[in-house]
Amino acid sequence: MSLFTAVEMAPRDPILGLNEQFNADTNPNKVNLGVGVYFDDNGKLPLLQCVQAAEKTMMSTPTARGYLPIDGIVAYDNAVKALVFGADSEPVTSGRVATVQAVGGTGGLKIGADFLKKLSPNAKVLISDPSWENHRALFTNAGFEVDTYTYYDAEKRGVNFEGMLASLNAAAPGTIVVLHACCHNPTGYDITPEQWDQVIAAVKAKGLTPFLDMAYQGFGHGIAEDGAVIGKFVAAGLNFFVSTSFSKSFSLYGERVGGLSVLCADKEEASRVLSQLKIVIRTNYSNPPIHGGAVVAAVLNNPELRAMWEKELGEMRVRIKAMRQKLVDGLKAAGVKQDMSFITTQIGMFSYSGLSKDQMVRLRNEFGVYGTDTGRMCVAALNSKNIDYVCQAIAKVV
Ligand code: PMP
Repeated sequence: MSLFTAVEMAPRDPILGLNEQFNADTNPNKVNLGVGVYFDDNGKLPLLQCVQAAEKTMMSTPTARGYLPIDGIVAYDNAVKALVFGADSEPVTSGRVATVQAVGGTGGLKIGADFLKKLSPNAKVLISDPSWENHRALFTNAGFEVDTYTYYDAEKRGVNFEGMLASLNAAAPGTIVVLHACCHNPTGYDITPEQWDQVIAAVKAKGLTPFLDMAYQGFGHGIAEDGAVIGKFVAAGLNFFVSTSFSKSFSLYGERVGGLSVLCADKEEASRVLSQLKIVIRTNYSNPPIHGGAVVAAVLNNPELRAMWEKELGEMRVRIKAMRQKLVDGLKAAGVKQDMSFITTQIGMFSYSGLSKDQMVRLRNEFGVYGTDTGRMCVAALNSKNIDYVCQAIAKVV
């Protein structure tokens, strides 16, 4: 009898578990479209030039590694604020944004969730149906009851916007609504700017608490374009949360660089909110690590490196779009009869392919093409070498 005899085996993480299965697969043609990671046309994880340049400078003046402040590197937090809200925006210049460095976008969500649990212990959380797998688990573990709002319409291959609005309008005041700021994960379908206006009006009328998850800024239409939704929430006079991730946009997955920003009523309120966010951080992991935040701050705060980053991010965005088109063309050429052009109306890293669980399992077992059982494929992992194989494989299972 051990202390842990009664401990049950937890289920594997649906996505990271898929990775393990992929790594063990001996098929020489195997393609991993499971995890949300951008690979370049050679199938390699990129190390951005802007990151290398920043690191080179950092290496030339080695620095000791003391503890960071609880809320992270000041220059980093300011860069996040400027990126999310605009450097000269009213929320930034008036000082009413509380921003903390976080351990990835996940960390930003978790700090926000823990703070919200103290602030509104009885609020419910609504996530999109479907959503990033971790949203439900993260908010549930923070103590919330998590439900969904209508989002994806499989028949229509798009967003059931009427349903989404109806869900929001039916929510109790104070409900926390997790919204994907851009590049919806897993479906790849975003709502239009006009539809955002209606969502914002509903959120405002019903007194809901918006929590924007921005994990893919720059992967949709552009850095400013993808971030424009934040300006809409500001203009509506709402208080809200934004989590930021640089995992994808800087290809710094393993450095765990992210943030949380909370838009408050005024500067004094922001300082009180910041003090509470710091307690959440202090009691979880004390303070964030240095390297990733220092790299991102160095890039965002240096005009030359910033221009380099924008160019490199733009190249990633363009390559993903080209792969979407190649996928549509390739599927047609491989004999797929149904219209797959919806793939090019989706945006960001993912495509909800519409394939069934059985088809996804066949793709995996017979062809070594790995996507999630829900039919989600990471189009950012397609390249000129694997695209034909993937198209042939899909054509054989549909
Ligand atoms: N939110 C969404 C919607 C995501 O897709 C991801 C990453 N897969 C995250 C948050 C978390 O990002 P990070 O890896 O920086 O924690």
